[in-house]
Amino acid sequence: MIQSTLSTVLTTSDHLPVLSQSKPPLHTYLDKRVTKSQRGTKRTRSQRARERLQTKEHLVGLARELHEGELADKLDRCHSRLSVLTCGRHIARIIPNFTCEFRLCPDCGRRRSRKLQSKYLPAMRGFMLHHKVTPVHLVLTQTHRKENRKQSAKRIKDSFTKLQRRGFWKDNFKGGTWSLEFTKDKNGLHHTHLHVIGFRRKFFDIEFLRDEWLAVTGDSHVLHLKPILDLAAGLQEVVKYVSKPLDIRRFGAADLKEFLGLKNMRMFGTFGEFRDFRKGFEPSNDDVAMFELESLTRDLVEGCACPQCSAPLFDLRLSKSELPQFYEQIESSPPGKVGRSWM
Ligand SMILES: [Zn+2]
Ligand SMILES: [Zn+2]
Repeated sequence: MIQSTLSTVLTTSDHLPVLSQSKPPLHTYLDKRVTKSQRGTKRTRSQRARERLQTKEHLVGLARELHEGELADKLDRCHSRLSVLTCGRHIARIIPNFTCEFRLCPDCGRRRSRKLQSKYLPAMRGFMLHHKVTPVHLVLTQTHRKENRKQSAKRIKDSFTKLQRRGFWKDNFKGGTWSLEFTKDKNGLHHTHLHVIGFRRKFFDIEFLRDEWLAVTGDSHVLHLKPILDLAAGLQEVVKYVSKPLDIRRFGAADLKEFLGLKNMRMFGTFGEFRDFRKGFEPSNDDVAMFELESLTRDLVEGCACPQCSAPLFDLRLSKSELPQFYEQIESSPPGKVGRSWM
């Protein structure tokens, strides 16, 4: 029966108290409202590339609307011309002409989330082994109020700080990472969620954690918890919110303006004993090998063998709108049949 205490009750609203007369069903972690914008169905690489392109065009338009000409130009230039190292069937490396580093840029976000993963994953694995703790993904939510994004984020972060000071939390969690996710409902109210990868010392009844969350927030008991079976996938799921904090295509100029005001807000962090552990963590030989593999790809040039099929790589120059087309061609071609027509 331990397992059933790990899953959570689906609730329709943050305002309503949880009615827990019935046993919570298993595997009901995925609250539609929490992850709808992020979950999606599995899309192809060409679809994702096309979406990034659209997101960027939308952002450029909003920036121009706000007379943020410099930002619009930067976004427009970012990844506008690409040098693609390919065998015709696989892409070994994409080198962009320019990266804007803007926090909402979908191209730069992907790179940032990869960086975060390579920075934190080895330390997280090390922490688990060293302390014999297991990771869980915890989503903390709060009631909606009329407040701006900054106030909403501060409120949930403050609540989390209070939670960490409580005995129950300390008894059950040894540390972990947190990240913020912003969404907005159709009434324009902010829903800010805190995604926590928590290293759990032992099993506990989720209802106790709800009571604790209610005690620190004063009015919210809604949270979701699921065990993480694959740490790399779990971390990837959480850093996604850092690289893509909101559904930008539903974003208006006022939203962008508000976001620009959040410049220095932290979206990702560590807590508890994991914080110091990570700072002092020395990656093992295996970790180093993983990074060497990455640098191996970084050193590839035209004429080298494709790491996936050993065919010679050639350098393909594409504009940003041609990349989705190239992916499409790869996806629709029978094996061994792509490529040189692009040169
Ligand atoms: Zn960018
Ligand atoms: Zn290949």
